[in-house]
Amino acid sequence: ETRKETLGFQTEVKQLLQLMIHSLYSNKEIFLRELISNASDAADKLRFEAISKPELLEGDAEPRVRVSFDADAKTVTIDDNGIGMSREEVIAHLGTIAKSGTADFLNALSGDQRKDSQLIGQFGVGFYSAFIVADRVEVFTRRAGAPAAEGVHWSSAGEGEFDIETVEKPGRGTRVVLHLKEDDVGFADGWRLREIVKKYSDHIGVPIQMPKQHHGEDKDAPAEPEWETVNRANALWTRSRNEVSEDEYKAFYKHVSHDFGDPLTWSHNKVEGKLEYTSLLYVPGRAPFDLYHREAARGLKLYVQRVFIMDQAEQFLPLYLRFLRGVVDSNDLSLNVSREILQKDPVISSMKSALTKRVLDMLDKLATGEPEKYAEFWKQFGQVLKEGPAEDFANRERIAGLLRFASTHSGGEAQDVSLADYVGRMKDGQTKVYYLTGESPAQVRNSPHLEVFRKKGIEVLLLTDRIDEWLMGYLTEFDGKSFVDVARGDLDLGAFDTDTDKQAQEEVAKSKQGLVERLKAALGDDVADVRVSHRLTESPAVLALGEQDIGLQLRQILEASGQ
Ligand code: ADP
Ligand code: MG
Repeated sequence: ETRKETLGFQTEVKQLLQLMIHSLYSNKEIFLRELISNASDAADKLRFEAISKPELLEGDAEPRVRVSFDADAKTVTIDDNGIGMSREEVIAHLGTIAKSGTADFLNALSGDQRKDSQLIGQFGVGFYSAFIVADRVEVFTRRAGAPAAEGVHWSSAGEGEFDIETVEKPGRGTRVVLHLKEDDVGFADGWRLREIVKKYSDHIGVPIQMPKQHHGEDKDAPAEPEWETVNRANALWTRSRNEVSEDEYKAFYKHVSHDFGDPLTWSHNKVEGKLEYTSLLYVPGRAPFDLYHREAARGLKLYVQRVFIMDQAEQFLPLYLRFLRGVVDSNDLSLNVSREILQKDPVISSMKSALTKRVLDMLDKLATGEPEKYAEFWKQFGQVLKEGPAEDFANRERIAGLLRFASTHSGGEAQDVSLADYVGRMKDGQTKVYYLTGESPAQVRNSPHLEVFRKKGIEVLLLTDRIDEWLMGYLTEFDGKSFVDVARGDLDLGAFDTDTDKQAQEEVAKSKQGLVERLKAALGDDVADVRVSHRLTESPAVLALGEQDIGLQLRQILEASGQ
């Protein structure tokens, strides 16, 4: 059937298109990166499906992406022999179903164009970036395995709707034809396109071919062009570290993460021995807008012996490292591996603990080698790392070493003190790490609980993030020193008292015995105990929590939620 129909874009897709066309004009050339990225994904998917159904290859087993242009017709064409799309897939993927998270993304927009164009980069622009340079886009596609008569022609001006029609398409795969806007006809140029391919897509594992250039004799060029490969065409992670430049690592990051910005750092390793795999892990430069959404994309791209298996394989890293992006390529897993198998396979759990260590190493190295970058990392992802000690008990001491806190040592609100810094500054005889939790650094700094510490010159960590009290429930020790909440129970600061201090304290305690009895009688059951304390120097009294009581922060959360 050759049904021709006109369908409307989903509302979210329409909004996205408008936004993209208007906010990405300064970086137009990325359309080519996105379309080549899709073509390369399509080659990956075909190779994967062909493992169980070799007939899908239809005698054409060499994947390639072809980029060509026609300066007279003002077109640029990207043609692949990948998996292709059925009519239903075209309708769903190119117009009526917004990517998951689109609504969240649109809600996160601020209306400030500069900020929003950064956001859209994080969200991943994808196919619709074609409309940055084209005022009409056509897609011809046929799914691998479907008969030639079941090709599909999709066409749209990117405004509110698209046309779709069944057509004959002998070759499998997808051809995208861009009809360039008057301002953008400059893209129909072989040298310019080559340069863009080199810049953004050199690391793509599939050959990207372009017609051989004939200097100044375009008119005599043969009708069927001679194709030459213009990229390096082997997957970046399979190369050895010293063969890959910084820029190539950065470009590859953009390919796997859909982020416009540069990564903060990365770690590329080939592991041999009992387990064999290659991993390339990146720490993004910025936290994605959906870092705390339960359904947000996370996980690594999984390959088995260079064959793409799946995106968002979540089983290779713990949840508190969900911000990592990258690739893992295993030699031990079967090509038939599924998400269900991944959950149970013991190979995966060994890989997970090795990769986790790898990431913690990478963060350690960043913290010691490039402290300013680490400070940036902490700003973006510190809150997530704080989930670590609870989730990953085995590594809690290492994670503790990566945490940063505000403290009475530094005046500001910045979280820049490590536990190692703290321990390095401990007073003679100090065996504990002291901390105080509360609403904000400003409020905590005025707490009467700090008076005695100030007097004795002992540093106290100031924990004011929502997660902190919960975190401290899982952090019991660092470097053999236990943690003490200064708002709790009886503080034993005896070690810092001189003999005269002690004598004076005893005398005060004796002389106030009567007052204590009267207060106990007056307060009755409202308090557990009344004690003479030496922790105050200016305030007359302080409410302290018992050793086992729920902390104040948590109490407020529980009360707010009606418990
Ligand atoms: P993403 O690549 O992040 O999924 P895109 O907007 O780039 O988002 O593409 C949307 C979807 O359209 C893809 O997930 C894929 O299903 C389909 N698609 C796009 N280009 C191709 C192609 N060349 N071959 C096959 N499917 C494609
Ligand atoms: Mg894409």
